Amino acid sequence: MNTFYVTTPIYYANSLPHLGHLYTMIVADTVARAKRQRGIETYFLTGTDEHGINIERAAQKAGRTPQEQSDYVVSYYKKMTSEFGLDTAHGGYDIFMRTTEPFHYQGVSELWRRIAKAKTPKGNDAIYKGHYEGWFCAACAEYKTEDEYQKPKNEGDPPTCLIHDTPLDRVSEESYFFRLSDYDEALLSVLEERPDFVRPDYRRNEVASFVRGGLQDLSVSRLKTSVSWGVPVPDDPAHTMYVWFDALTNYITAIGFGNEERQKAVGFEKYWPALHLVGKDILRFHAVYWPAFLLAAGIELPRAIVAHGMWLDPNGRKMSKTLGNTIELDVLQKHFSIDAIRYFCLREMVFGQDGRFGYEGVIDRANSDLASGWGNLSSRTLTMIARYCDSRIPSGVIPEDKLLLAKRTGVDTDETTVAGFIEHARDQFVHHFENLAFSKALETAWSVVARVDKMITDAKPWDLAKDENQKQTLGVVLYRAAESLRWLSVLLYPVMPEASRAIWKQLGLDGSPAQINPTQLKWGDLKQGAQIGEVQPVFPRMDKAKIMSEIASPSPVSTEPSAPVVHATQADAIGITSFIEIDDFAKVDLRVGQVLSAERIPKADKLLLMKVDIGEQQPRQILAGIAQYYEPEKLIGRKVVIVANLKPRKLRGLESQGMVVAASYGEEGRPVIATFTEDVPNGARLK
Ligand SMILES: [Zn+2]
Repeated sequence: MNTFYVTTPIYYANSLPHLGHLYTMIVADTVARAKRQRGIETYFLTGTDEHGINIERAAQKAGRTPQEQSDYVVSYYKKMTSEFGLDTAHGGYDIFMRTTEPFHYQGVSELWRRIAKAKTPKGNDAIYKGHYEGWFCAACAEYKTEDEYQKPKNEGDPPTCLIHDTPLDRVSEESYFFRLSDYDEALLSVLEERPDFVRPDYRRNEVASFVRGGLQDLSVSRLKTSVSWGVPVPDDPAHTMYVWFDALTNYITAIGFGNEERQKAVGFEKYWPALHLVGKDILRFHAVYWPAFLLAAGIELPRAIVAHGMWLDPNGRKMSKTLGNTIELDVLQKHFSIDAIRYFCLREMVFGQDGRFGYEGVIDRANSDLASGWGNLSSRTLTMIARYCDSRIPSGVIPEDKLLLAKRTGVDTDETTVAGFIEHARDQFVHHFENLAFSKALETAWSVVARVDKMITDAKPWDLAKDENQKQTLGVVLYRAAESLRWLSVLLYPVMPEASRAIWKQLGLDGSPAQINPTQLKWGDLKQGAQIGEVQPVFPRMDKAKIMSEIASPSPVSTEPSAPVVHATQADAIGITSFIEIDDFAKVDLRVGQVLSAERIPKADKLLLMKVDIGEQQPRQILAGIAQYYEPEKLIGRKVVIVANLKPRKLRGLESQGMVVAASYGEEGRPVIATFTEDVPNGARLK
């Protein structure tokens, strides 16, 4: 059947979306658009994984029920997908899957029952009841083996997770086990027979060597008394399913496995198997556990599992709140067009490997490749058609009697030269795209931009326009440029839907590049005589200095996401239960200060050490728990509010002589330092 199914992972609903989530969605969205453009019926899934102890804990911390916690996080995902044009309304995903959907419960239970009845390839029961004891990381939702945790410094303390740096829980309880150890040979033969099953190659090799190293049976349930927020084990409700068993199964329950209604609405047989796009950090779950579950249940394996790399900062460091080098979605949304972000993501990262992401990099790419590249080619071509050809697409053919004349200008009279070049580039582009080599595909498209640019520069249409006898020669040059633009709009549509549509419209074409299969593009299909649309720049140049300074010192009102502000307001309103007298307030000595220096403290992730001038002889030394949200360099020179008469206290062996006043919002208590918009001397008192 001519169908295709692509998935992102479903994201764990214990924390808010970030660049990594946006990136996988952009890739999946691009793949889905490309498939649809080729006339393939495509289903695109994204969503959230909403069960497990970690959601319970996050909910408890935030004073919500687990369902409220999931709803809260989902609202952020929905906001992101809408703002970045990835939701159904923008032609993006077909389903935002949530594992709290009743149909999912039904489907997972069906899968469990099937596996519970099955025998392994070695003739044993695929699921059995046993006893498990081990160290469990709630944040990872997995048990940790000895090489996966940090041993405690003091004897008697629990070990800590290598990823989360948080203490592990000792778990000892009755548990159902999946007999993963019986599936090593079956998995290895899949990896051998299907070299494309796990991509890229080096990831497949990692998976194979993990399997060869010996598989341990997998605990697939927890007692309801320890984890209640999850899908109950069928016929044994004292147990809750292991969250990964439940989460992975979403890929089939979403399209109708185990549920009549979804089956009718979407169709399991119609779309399965899927292409799974995953981050390399969750490859093992998708390339070992998931195929083993499916083998046990007698269900066809996924089409492929493709692991992508991580985004690092421009210096190649891992992004983290602690380092203050994360990319903020609201900043991206405010300063960059969706297409520029999509282009950067797909061009900059060699798919599979790690890439580097910085705001400056996005601006540089947008200016060099988009504004000066494709955008400029488009506007110069269309402007000349407007000026020299009365806004109508000229003829692409030089009449016989003008051939000699045309040859004298140096213009290639054989149109198959440029047509051949672009056809070859198209084939390359399509090939790379099929292999998810987006960066290479885009390089190929830009070889067309360069080629056509050169053709125009060499032909000098502005000179040809001066000679009435060269009218046809001029027309042919502009026709070739316009026809190339049409091809580029079709090729680049999956990556930059908005810009492609805009250029398509400016060319005066009907319909949309979304409907043209690039493999069926024919040179010369652009109709002579058609009226072009209004010419407008598609990629305005970005003012790097201005944008970078706006990013460095954001105006708080416009950059704060709306939901947490509401949340903060509510929290404050609830918090006020009693009033104080004016004299009580007067006891607090609040002073205007200026940050003279700020630096991180080694081994204290959250603290910044600051010297603040509050108009005294000596500056105050103040420690503030804001290091995860403020880069120290950016605070220097800033006016702040200091609680000057707070009793000095020691933190990490350093004396803090006062406190910086900051707003705090959201579930993480994100700080926003109070400041002044007008000039005010250091030491002035707040009353
Ligand atoms: Zn962990």
